[in-house]
Amino acid sequence: MARDPNCIFCRIVAVEIPAAVVYEDEAVIAFLDIGPLAEGHLLMTPKVHYADVTQIPPSVAANLGAALPPLGRALLKVTGAEGFNVLCNQGRSAGQVVQHVHFHLIPRKSDDGLGFRWNAGSYEAGRAEELVAAYQKAIANA
Ligand code: 5GP
Ligand code: ZN
Repeated sequence: MARDPNCIFCRIVAVEIPAAVVYEDEAVIAFLDIGPLAEGHLLMTPKVHYADVTQIPPSVAANLGAALPPLGRALLKVTGAEGFNVLCNQGRSAGQVVQHVHFHLIPRKSDDGLGFRWNAGSYEAGRAEELVAAYQKAIANA
């Protein structure tokens, strides 16, 4: 199994350092974030080391996708949250600190004060159509 001996999450997978593990299967592990944005904040991550979410093979992506619904249901039940944010910080510019792909599940309540900055923009005439064409071409070759 590919691992990086200097990676904190690989070390958690290998039980070299402790973590509050809530779920584990052959491909996925989920544990409490050590610095929670809200009580019960989870990190869900593949056991194999991938730094980049775009490089995860389909089988690992499927395993992560399969783990998400039950983890989300459990999070709602355990924390009493009304909802949760699923967040993947992909790349340093996006806030990724631990270079082992992971998804945050952050419990939310309408009055939790966590907030988020969402400065919505808009498109000039024709730009959305250009982007759709570019996306369709890129996805066809991805
Ligand atoms: P990122 O910014 O890379 O998306 O988030 C990394 C997350 O990993 C942070 O929220 C941080 O609190 C969490 N984290 C970092 N080191 C550890 C650790 O040793 N154990 C646990 N449980 N979480 C960690
Ligand atoms: Zn790793």
